[in-house]
Amino acid sequence: MAEQMRVVTKDIEIPGIDTLAVYQAHGGYAALRKALAMEPVAVMEEVKISGLRGRGGAGFPTGMKWSFLAKGSSKPTYLACNADESEPGTFKDRMIMERLPHRLVEGVLISAYATGTKTAFIYIRGELKQAARQVGRAIQEAYDAGLAGKNIMGTGIDIDIILHRGAGAYICGEETALMESLEGKRGYPRLKPPFPAAAGIYGGPTVINNCETLSTVPLILANGGAWYAGIGTEKSKGTRIFCVSGHVNKPGNYELPMGTPLRTIIDDYAGGVLGGKRVKAIIPGGSSTPMLDASKLDIPMDYESVAAAGSMLGAAGVIVLDEDTCIVGAVLRMTEFYRDESCGKCTPCREGTYWLVELLERLEHGGGRGSDIALLRDICDNISGKSFCPLGDAATSSIISSIKLFADEYLYHVTQGRCLVGEGARQAIAAH
Ligand code: SF4
Repeated sequence: MAEQMRVVTKDIEIPGIDTLAVYQAHGGYAALRKALAMEPVAVMEEVKISGLRGRGGAGFPTGMKWSFLAKGSSKPTYLACNADESEPGTFKDRMIMERLPHRLVEGVLISAYATGTKTAFIYIRGELKQAARQVGRAIQEAYDAGLAGKNIMGTGIDIDIILHRGAGAYICGEETALMESLEGKRGYPRLKPPFPAAAGIYGGPTVINNCETLSTVPLILANGGAWYAGIGTEKSKGTRIFCVSGHVNKPGNYELPMGTPLRTIIDDYAGGVLGGKRVKAIIPGGSSTPMLDASKLDIPMDYESVAAAGSMLGAAGVIVLDEDTCIVGAVLRMTEFYRDESCGKCTPCREGTYWLVELLERLEHGGGRGSDIALLRDICDNISGKSFCPLGDAATSSIISSIKLFADEYLYHVTQGRCLVGEGARQAIAAH
C-alpha cells in the first residue's frame, strides 16, 4: 500500500504512544511549551497562516473562528472540543482519541491558551467508551505531570480540561445542541444569533472545534504554519483523514494531502472495490453529503473540487457503493437514521423524515406508486432550508442526489416492484 502522509496521525503506530511517557519521548508537549512561550495572538496567527480549516464538516478557517471570540465579555471564555463523532461513515476522531489521546489534549491546551480560555471541555459521543477512557486517562496524566490545571509548566498559566460524555444523540454534534447538553439540558439546537463566539456555554464567548482540528494544532506549532500551508491545495491546506467504508477491500482511516484524487484513495489505499466490482456511487463526506456517481471518481478530494462536483467534503467520510447496490435500499437506510436522530424540535424535520421513510419503505418493498418520486422531492423541498438546524438539510441530501443520478432505479422499483440490481434482482429474474 502507498505511504500515508502522517501529520495528525504522526507516530500512531508506535507502541505505547497513548501514554504520556512514550508521547513525550517522541516530542509530545514540546509544541505546548513552545506555544506558552509565545503571545496568545502569535499562536493564533500561526494557525491562521497554516490555513487550517474545521475538520468537522463546515470547513471554516480555524484561526479566523478563534479571532471572532467576543472581547471584553464579563463572562469567561470557553473552548469546547466537539468529539461527538456520529456522522455515518466517519470514524477518524474515535481513532485519534483511542490511539493518540495526548495529541488531542495537547491541541486543546494550545488552542485554549491562544483563545484566552481557562476552561476547556472535551465532549465525547456517549457510545465511544474506549475513546472516553483513553482521553480521561490522558487528561489525568497531563494534570499529574503539571501539563494541565494550575501553573502549567511553571508558567503561571492555568487551563482546566473537563471531559464530558454525551448520551449518544447525533444532534449533539450540532454545536448549539452540544452546548445545551454540556449545560445539562436536553440536546436541542439553539436559535442563532447569538452565535457561540458571542454567547455560548453558560453565556460566555465560546469556540467549538472538531477533535481532528484541535489535534492538528500541535503539529502546526511544532513545524510552523507555513509548513502546514505547503501541504494540500491552494485553498484546502494540509492533510485530511479520509474514513473509507462501504464496498472496499480495506476500509479504514487514511491520512493524505488534501486534493488526493478520490480514485487514488479507493484503489491505492482502500484496496479497491470488493470482488473487483465497479463503483456505482460514492458519498464523499459522510451520509449528510450528496451522492456522486462513478463519473466523479477522478475529482481531487478538497473542499472546492468536491463542491464543484455537486457534493461536500464534509467530515471526509467516503462511503463507496458498488454496482450491485440497490440505491433505494441504501437511501432508505440512511433516511431511517435521520428519522431516528431527528430531535423533534421543529415540524419540517420531525414529520418530514417520518414520511420520507414511509415512502421509501413503500418503494423498496414493492408497493411504490408512480407519484411517489415526485412526492419524495416535494417533502424534501419542505424540509431543506426550512428546518431549524442542518440535520433537516442533511436528511434530504442522499434522496435528492440519488433521484437525480439514479432515477431509473426508483422507476424500476415502481414499475417492477423490486430492485434493478443485486442478489435480490438476480433471484427474482431467475425465478421467472
Ligand atoms: Fe431537531 Fe431536525 Fe429541527 Fe434540527 S432540523 S431542530 S434535528 S427537528
